[in-house]
Amino acid sequence: SEFTNTFLFEPEDAYQFLPKRGKRINKYSAGKVLTIAGSFQYPGAAVLTAGSTLHSGTGASVLVIPQSVKKFIHKKITELVVQSYGNDDCKFLTPEDYKALESKIKWADVIALGPGIGREEQTIEFVQKFIKKKDFKAAVIDADALFALKDILSKADLRKSILTPHLGEFSNLVNLPVEEIEKNIFEIGSEFAKQYKTILVLKGAPTVTFTSIGEIIINSSGNNGLAKFGSGDVLTGMIAGFYSQSKNLKEAALLSVYIHGLTADLLLGTKTEFGIVATDLIKNIPSTINFIK
Ligand code: AMP
Ligand code: MG
Repeated sequence: SEFTNTFLFEPEDAYQFLPKRGKRINKYSAGKVLTIAGSFQYPGAAVLTAGSTLHSGTGASVLVIPQSVKKFIHKKITELVVQSYGNDDCKFLTPEDYKALESKIKWADVIALGPGIGREEQTIEFVQKFIKKKDFKAAVIDADALFALKDILSKADLRKSILTPHLGEFSNLVNLPVEEIEKNIFEIGSEFAKQYKTILVLKGAPTVTFTSIGEIIINSSGNNGLAKFGSGDVLTGMIAGFYSQSKNLKEAALLSVYIHGLTADLLLGTKTEFGIVATDLIKNIPSTINFIK
């Protein structure tokens, strides 16, 4: 075919991309993730994204959330460190919150940014400030953060980022109808990743990942059980989680997409494609890791 750089990601590939963990790691050398996700309206997205980092091996996982939902988060996950912004009435991120988060943004190996932060004008400004300032070492940019990225795309430096749009989000980002993208998915995805020198994880059935040097990798796991609110948030947390350990953007993206889908496949027997929910995925990441080891 004309796409000599096209690969199918298969079970054998997964094992080699699992982060190598040293004998004497500590919670910081085991990976530092800052999750900027969730809001007063969508607190669940924060729980799912940050929770997934912990179950993927991250040692130090910090979640940024409005003060108003802090109590809710700790009822759901004990092991997260929560850094809140605003007061008890605060509902979403604003650019004024950046200063207070700056040192944590610099501290983290990777930022998981976007799920459930909402599309308030001020939140969009926060995201644009985050991307322009480049204080982060690496970032997984998803969901509402992709929406905010659109207006600054031509000026954005995405070399240390992984973008994880579903087809609708990608359609908005590149200003093309979904049908046209589906028809020319390899060309359009590949051109985008090369132009912005980034990793593009174009989510769907199947998910196709594009690298900055023109590789196209088709995932081989996953099923209809993933077509449900929350699935994508889990993937974003997993990518950040694995990246915090391997420090390899491409390996973290491909491994996560594969394990995410395989976890759903392994759950079919007990949960069926009707009953799989995002929380099941998170809980079962470890058994999937055992499966591929
Ligand atoms: P999001 O739309 O952000 O919640 O992400 C949904 C996730 O579930 C992505 O990783 C998709 O690839 C995956 N997904 C959704 N529907 C299916 C399907 N029918 N088969 C395989 N994967 C799916
Ligand atoms: Mg999503």
